Amino acid sequence: MAVGWAADGAEQQQIEDSLSDEIERARRNIRKGPGLEFCEECGEPIPEARRKAVPGVRLCIKCQEKWDKAHGPARLYNRRGSKDSQLK
Ligand SMILES: [Zn+2]
Repeated sequence: MAVGWAADGAEQQQIEDSLSDEIERARRNIRKGPGLEFCEECGEPIPEARRKAVPGVRLCIKCQEKWDKAHGPARLYNRRGSKDSQLK
């Protein structure tokens, strides 16, 4: 068993893969506080699933993507991707 490496979460991680990428991105980007029902940028409603997945979410997916592009792509999941392929 590897230490410091959540092997038991691997299955769930696969299921929630795209979702957790979004969470990780959002966690870096957002300030703390209650999530918004409507996007801070464009006023579009933020889907409930997204608000649940991303506590304190302030941007809709579109604006989050724009934000990511403007501030540079996150490299974290590239790294995780190669880790995953080494795992098995
Ligand atoms: Zn928006």
